[in-house]
Amino acid sequence: MPTTPDRIVVIGAGPVGLCLSLALAQADLKVCLVEALGDDNFLEQVPRAGTNHPATLEMLDRLGLYEKLEPRGIIAPVFHYWDRAESKLIAAFDHGVLKDDTRFPYVLQCERIKIVEEALKLARAHPGIDLRLNTEFTGFAQDADGVTVRVVNRAGEEKTIAGRYLVSAEGARSIVRKELGIAFEGFTYDDRVLNIEVAYDFRRHGYAHRNYISDPAEWSNLFHWKGPPDRWRVHFPTDPKADDNELTRPQAMQVRLQNFLPTGKPFDIVGCNLYVVHQRVAEKFRAGRAILAGDSAHVNSPIGAMGMNSGIHDAINLADKLIAIARHEADDSVLDRYDRQRRHVAITHTQAQTIRNKRLLAEQDPAVRRRNHDELRRTADDPALARQFLLRTALFESLREAEAIL
Ligand SMILES: Cc1cc2nc3c(=O)[nH]c(=O)nc-3n(C[C@H](O)[C@H](O)[C@H](O)COP(=O)(O)OP(=O)(O)OC[C@H]3O[C@@H](n4cnc5c(N)ncnc54)[C@H](O)[C@@H]3O)c2cc1C
Repeated sequence: MPTTPDRIVVIGAGPVGLCLSLALAQADLKVCLVEALGDDNFLEQVPRAGTNHPATLEMLDRLGLYEKLEPRGIIAPVFHYWDRAESKLIAAFDHGVLKDDTRFPYVLQCERIKIVEEALKLARAHPGIDLRLNTEFTGFAQDADGVTVRVVNRAGEEKTIAGRYLVSAEGARSIVRKELGIAFEGFTYDDRVLNIEVAYDFRRHGYAHRNYISDPAEWSNLFHWKGPPDRWRVHFPTDPKADDNELTRPQAMQVRLQNFLPTGKPFDIVGCNLYVVHQRVAEKFRAGRAILAGDSAHVNSPIGAMGMNSGIHDAINLADKLIAIARHEADDSVLDRYDRQRRHVAITHTQAQTIRNKRLLAEQDPAVRRRNHDELRRTADDPALARQFLLRTALFESLREAEAIL
């Protein structure tokens, strides 16, 4: 009888699957990393995450990724809340107040695509990672000893891969989650978000690299990304009934941008996309030898930049537990602790915070808006309150709370 190979099969070379694979391989575990995309289309993915919080930078540093990413990103210690209706800065938060809490008292604006590009280079160079690009995962079976994973390559050939554990880092459409019948509990917002990429330096109007802009009619986010050429992403909510072609018509986007910031000259629009926003958490993150991580386990609105960050936190938490199991320092009940810790973070921190963030930006009641803005000002002006606030937004609080869960 063939014995099950001592390796972990990871599905998905997104930021979560790659960080997990690197953490495992760097601790001498064997990994098979399966990715449907290939060299020809791996870097053609739509713009997504990009704000990396301090707690995540510590993890990227542990993997040897931070030094590769820093030169490709923008160090952004400060972020702003603006009131669009009044054209006023409400509050500026400076991560400098975390200088005694972390080696990284700033966020790094570095897009998901750069992270996966650099992480993929490290994964390719690591002898412990068997990287299978152009390979689509189609299903799996498990027994007491291990998992058998079914894949198909671009030539249409079906194969199986055996391993001790299977990690689904396949993103929100996870086949593993669906095969296991795990509910993805939560809701989807009616309105989609329009992301417009613009080559224009908004700092000349006083904006920081990261800005959250409240407005009862049209809230937005404004973020700076390193080029060349440098680009800024502006997010706007959209009418649920509006037609895609109309929303992304160049002239219609110009009008939106000019309403947002009248410059009198057309903006240089370099890209756009529309996306649906879900707030959902899987009812469990583990079923036997199959484990969910990242978007496969939870999805949320990008306001607050918590999706990819919390997914990378899943990866590091899970890696440490799989390493402990492989070294016989723990039995596999530690995987239930992973479920308890990371589901708690997904529900109590990521979901709660991102839902609150959207409400804050979109609030319509003038009295509530005033109260919210006063609260933000008071927090930013008081160093102790600002530190507490930033420990939460920089995701340290969620890690400390998870650590206390047994
Ligand atoms: C517009 C937008 C902006 C965002 N901004 C932020 C932000 O600023 N900060 C933040 O933290 N998060 C942000 N997010 C969320 C973030 O992009 C995701 O949380 C993150 O990419 C999830 O990483 P992942 O590795 O779990 O999944 P993914 O990034 O979705 O990667 C999944 C991988 O699995 C592969 N795959 C899928 N199915 C299969 C299969 N059957 N077989 C083999 N391979 C498969 C895919 O090709 C892909 O490479 C944003 C999201 C959006 C939409």
